[in-house]
Amino acid sequence: MSAAKYGRLKNFIGGQFIDSTADRVIPVISPLDGTFLAEVPCSTATDLDAAVRSARAAFPRWSRTPIKERVQVLFRYRHLLETNLQELAALISEENGKTLGEAVAEADKCIELTEFATSLPQLVTGEVLEVSRGVECRTEHVPLGVVASIVPFNFPAMVPNWTIPNALALGNCMILKPSEKVPLSAQKIANLLMEAGLPEGVFNIVNGDSGIVESICDHPRIEAVSFVGSTRIARLVYQRTTQHLKRCLALGGAKNHLLVLPDAKPDMTAQNVAASMSGCAGQRCMAASAMVAVGNIEPIIDKICEEARKIVPGKNLGAVINRESKERIERYITEAEQQGAKVLVDGRGARVPGKENGTYVGPTVIDYVRPDMAIATEEIFGPVISIMRVDTLDDALDIENANPYGNAASVFTQNGGYARYVIDRASAGMIGVNVGVPVPREPFSFGGWNESKFGVGDITGKSSIEFWTRLKKSTVKWNPEAGVNWMS
Ligand code: NAD
Repeated sequence: MSAAKYGRLKNFIGGQFIDSTADRVIPVISPLDGTFLAEVPCSTATDLDAAVRSARAAFPRWSRTPIKERVQVLFRYRHLLETNLQELAALISEENGKTLGEAVAEADKCIELTEFATSLPQLVTGEVLEVSRGVECRTEHVPLGVVASIVPFNFPAMVPNWTIPNALALGNCMILKPSEKVPLSAQKIANLLMEAGLPEGVFNIVNGDSGIVESICDHPRIEAVSFVGSTRIARLVYQRTTQHLKRCLALGGAKNHLLVLPDAKPDMTAQNVAASMSGCAGQRCMAASAMVAVGNIEPIIDKICEEARKIVPGKNLGAVINRESKERIERYITEAEQQGAKVLVDGRGARVPGKENGTYVGPTVIDYVRPDMAIATEEIFGPVISIMRVDTLDDALDIENANPYGNAASVFTQNGGYARYVIDRASAGMIGVNVGVPVPREPFSFGGWNESKFGVGDITGKSSIEFWTRLKKSTVKWNPEAGVNWMS
């Protein structure tokens, strides 16, 4: 193998990029064309200790800096994200495999997330009330201390920015554990934060895979852990951190259903379905993966196929993360076909000329999928939509409700009553009406239900305030005349 384009990556501790003490590294390969990008160290507990020490040292000063001053760093970071947008987007695309357009949209979303964090001084005000003559009670949101954020491969910059700006604005010091598959964007983020004037030690990066995640869960000086990734690992991380009595919010995988009614607008529905199932090569936790066709919607299914055929790998469709993932997705399609489903648009065996080492799967539409097939119930994480046919909206909701996940569900209809019926009955945290990817924008918060999220509250928006802070309640008596038993 030739030398890695970005060499061996370092951790970021105390404001410096420093070598890990790891003796094991993992290669980082671009899904776009197989380029050997970097080697990422599997950091050790010693590395994590160094990061925690640096974050703890920074915490007293950072947490006592007034919030209006703390967010000045984020105003500058936001500006730097804008001036470095193309460079960050190129890195996202290179390491993750998404198209440049999708990577630009991801970098834009980082800006929006940071903008929300700069508004936190307006939102975290406490409460005060004279509860008895001359006696006040007040509440304040105070930071937790050293916190950690563990993130997945599918949004190398956006998911870290779900947590970094809010947690830091609220006065915490953070350790980020990037996905070992896409560790490069995080290095750029660290550079931008330093350029924005973030004090050393407030933000740190420790690279690695499962071993370092376990060390984070166990570390006695890490107060809270946010996790985003698959349900299997979210469950492990939630159980392990809470066993150590830490606060944890662990977002997991998804199987999002689109319920399409016969009165849906055909063009709009088809475009939304195709975009939702294929955007970021289907590797979004909000991607449409199962479509339930209620009654006769033949013309809409025809249009979905038409839209899907316009999606071309290497042009307006990126790569899936690696060969293993490509093979797994194609296996699901083949198995469903063998079990009697009908492949209307087939993305298996996709090749992009000149990028033979890229890992592409073409858009795939499969009809007559039965609810008991693996492709109908499991997360596929590829540009694949499975269509199930039912007679009534209640049948469609039964299928949606039976799935153990609960990130998103959408309904396509022109009837407000049916839409409300679905909003009330779908078992998912985020619902769309004629919207294929119903991601709530800030100040609304992002978070699923059921096996798509373990823990209380949501990860972004106003809900994140509760996660990244704790309440201090003080009772203050200014009236010397008030009796000792002032409560009575
Ligand atoms: P993943 O669970 O494999 O990895 C996520 C993180 O966990 C990574 O940092 C990884 O290093 C670490 N990890 C992996 N195996 C581990 C183990 N055995 N023990 C401890 N840590 C381990 O997820 P992924 O493949 O990187 O990302 C895709 C998944 O993330 C999909 O399931 C997707 O739905 C989900 N996701 C969910 C959301 C959401 O908001 N609910 C958002 C983005 C992605």
